[in-house]
Order: sequence, then structure tokens, then C-alpha cells
Amino acid sequence: MTKTTYAWPDGKRCAAVFSIDFDGQTPYLWRSRHNRPDTLGELEQRAFGPREGIYRILGMLSDLDIRASFFIPGVIAEHYPEAVEAIAQAGHEIGLHGYLHERVDELTEEQVEESILRGKAALEKVIGPRTMGFRSPSWEMTPDTFELIKRHGIPYDSSLMGYDHPYWFEDLPEIPVQWLLDDAIFYRYTGGGAGNPPLNPRTVIDTWEQEFEGIKRFGGLFLLTVHDWISGRGSRLIALEGLLSRLKNDPEVWWATCGEIAEYHARQYAGQFRESLGGLGHDGL
Ligand SMILES: [Zn+2]
Repeated sequence: MTKTTYAWPDGKRCAAVFSIDFDGQTPYLWRSRHNRPDTLGELEQRAFGPREGIYRILGMLSDLDIRASFFIPGVIAEHYPEAVEAIAQAGHEIGLHGYLHERVDELTEEQVEESILRGKAALEKVIGPRTMGFRSPSWEMTPDTFELIKRHGIPYDSSLMGYDHPYWFEDLPEIPVQWLLDDAIFYRYTGGGAGNPPLNPRTVIDTWEQEFEGIKRFGGLFLLTVHDWISGRGSRLIALEGLLSRLKNDPEVWWATCGEIAEYHARQYAGQFRESLGGLGHDGL
């Protein structure tokens, strides 16, 4: 049996998107919101992102002539408006990522709505009103959150992993992420003896390159996600630059933003690749 292959524009074999979850300190602030410890280590480690990392990433993208998708919590826009302005001015896509990087599965529906609307208002104060896609903090989603983002006219979600090409979930285009293409699982280390030491950037790039070859063979979407405070470090950025430069020069790759991929999917695949909450496990099984 053969399955329908996902077809990309202009006969390209696959698509590539470079995305940045511009989190800075926000996941730490959310995690410790009830009982913030009187320590500076992780906070300062993360502050490296909005102070330095994000500008290095922007410089690299400018050198490579790549337009990327940045997902930004509202608090980052309030505290680092100049960084968010620089992202917008360079022509990159900006998307929603909560207000304080709230995990939607830890909130009531009203609280999720508040976090989305506050996050959107904080971003729009810096970059002006615009339609923005959604990426859920920590990549967790709930049925209620899908309902909410549809109700508020948000054009797509980019938080789930049900395919490695775009699909519909609950009548919204889903632009799928995957853990293998996230820098955090390889590099995230915040001290205290917990967790593994960060991997060598060459190992990480090698892993991503192998996954790119796999995605290319099966005609999927190579959606890479990095973080300002993680991949903005020198050796990681140099390695990343090499990978992106190779992929940028591959004539069989369609480079786009998440928003452009969502538009393409909505236009070309209105009736195909549709999934919903009625599937196995979503109805109480
Ligand atoms: Zn995040």
C-alpha cells in the first residue's frame, strides 16, 4: 500500500522552517511562580538569551538570508521590546507563545484565554496589530486551547507531532514540531547536578542532518526549533550556521515560515490530512 505523499510547491522535495522559541527567563518564572527561590544561577543563564543570544541568531539569519518564525511570550516583549522590534524589522514572522510561558495543561480555560490575549496585547504594543499563529509553551496542548485559538481567529497551531508534514487538527492547520529537532533536549543544562551534560554541537548537527535526509526522502517538513539562551552560545551557533547554510543551498528544499506553510496547507489540502479529537484515545479510551 502506498500513502499519499505530501506535495510541495514548485516540485520541491521537502520544506524547511527555522523557528526560535524566544523564551529567555519566562519558563523559569512560570515554574517558580508560587515560590520563587532566592537564587540567580538559572535566571542569569537564561537572561543571556535576550541580552546576547537573540542578536547573534538575528545576525546569522541576516547573513544567510533566511526568514524565520519567532514565538515570543508577552513578558519578553514587555522587558525586551528592542529585541522584538529588531525581529519584526528584519522581516521575520512573530507568533504567540503565551504571556509568562504558561503550560496550558496547568490552567483553566479562562486562564489560557487570558494568557493568550495578554501575550498578544504585549506583542502588539511593540510591533502593532497583526494576525499571529500559536505555539504552545512546552509544546503541550489541550482540546480547550484548540477551541480558544480558533475562536480568536488564530490561523494555525505549531505544537503537536502527529505527522512530519502539515495536517489539520480540529479544523486548524497544524505545523508539526518534533523533539528530535529541538535544541533543548541536547543542550539544556541548568546546573545542580541534574540532567545530562550538554552534547557536543557536532553530534547535534549530525543528528539534525540525518533527520533532514529522512524528512527529505519522505517529503516532509524539516521544522527546527532553537532557543535564544541555548543556541545563542558561540560553538552552537557556529555549528548551526553551517547546517543552515548547507540546507539553504539545497535546491530541492522550499524555505518558508510557519505562517507561509500554514497558508499553503489551507490552500492545497482543504480536504486532506484531517485529524480530530474523535481519534483513538481522545474519546475516553
Ligand atoms: Zn517556549
